[in-house]
Amino acid sequence: MSRIAYVNGRYLPHADAGIHIEDRGFQFADGVYEVCEVRDGLLVDARRHLDRLDRSLSELRISAPMTRAALLVILRETVRLNRVRNGIVYLQVTRGIARRDHGFPSADTPPSLVVTARASDPKANAAKAQAGVKVITVPDNRWERVDIKTVGLLPNVLAKQQAREQGAYEAWFIDEDGTVTEGASTNAWIVTQNDALVTRPADTGILRGITRTVLFEVAGALGLRVEERAFTLAEALEAKEAFISSASGVVLPVVALDGRPISSGVPGPVAAALRARFHEHAETQA
Ligand code: PLP
Repeated sequence: MSRIAYVNGRYLPHADAGIHIEDRGFQFADGVYEVCEVRDGLLVDARRHLDRLDRSLSELRISAPMTRAALLVILRETVRLNRVRNGIVYLQVTRGIARRDHGFPSADTPPSLVVTARASDPKANAAKAQAGVKVITVPDNRWERVDIKTVGLLPNVLAKQQAREQGAYEAWFIDEDGTVTEGASTNAWIVTQNDALVTRPADTGILRGITRTVLFEVAGALGLRVEERAFTLAEALEAKEAFISSASGVVLPVVALDGRPISSGVPGPVAAALRARFHEHAETQA
């Protein structure tokens, strides 16, 4: 079955789904995106993802391409056309197509919208969670507004590639002060020796992950104590557990950091419990 993408008003086979060479997303990375989990054919936490999209757009003064209701129709239709039961739906909004010039185009330039959907194997993700993943660390060399989910992801791309080349799954960015900010495409967490769940505050130094937000609720239901504060690499290396969170992977335990095992080097019970209970707290929409 050929995959179908939505591009500026049309559903097209991927082979024909192109964007104009003067789209500002292509020219300047002048756009934002969202990734939403699809589970049993339903969108997970769409409301929260679209709230974050609205925020990203307004921070960059890009207008919304359409109403939320219309966007939801396109998201669901793209999932349906691609027969995705489990996987992700991706959406990208850019400042539109205009003659190349750094300043904003005229206010009547319509934003561009691209939506794609992709199936993934829940068993493969569960196997990854069973085995745990390895993480390396890299200096955080990103701009100050990583709270905006822009398609300008070059430092994240390079960090992820470095992780792969070193046999790891994810890279954690380390701030100038030695604290962990987040992963290249995930939020970072540890469980301390005194059983506190620690993750960095979502100021402008990290992306406020939707999975992260829902995990606060899950942690509450499990009676776990959460501390929203920065933690150092040294603290992570001494932690009982570490894990990463994202819409596509939910919760994945980290078993090694820079080649050194976390605890005994096997996934821990807290990450497993958070993962097991996650979808009781996430919102699903038909
Ligand atoms: N941090 C970064 C840099 C990301 O790119 C992502 C997801 O793509 C996350 C965190 C996790 O966010 P969410 O839980 O909304 O997927």
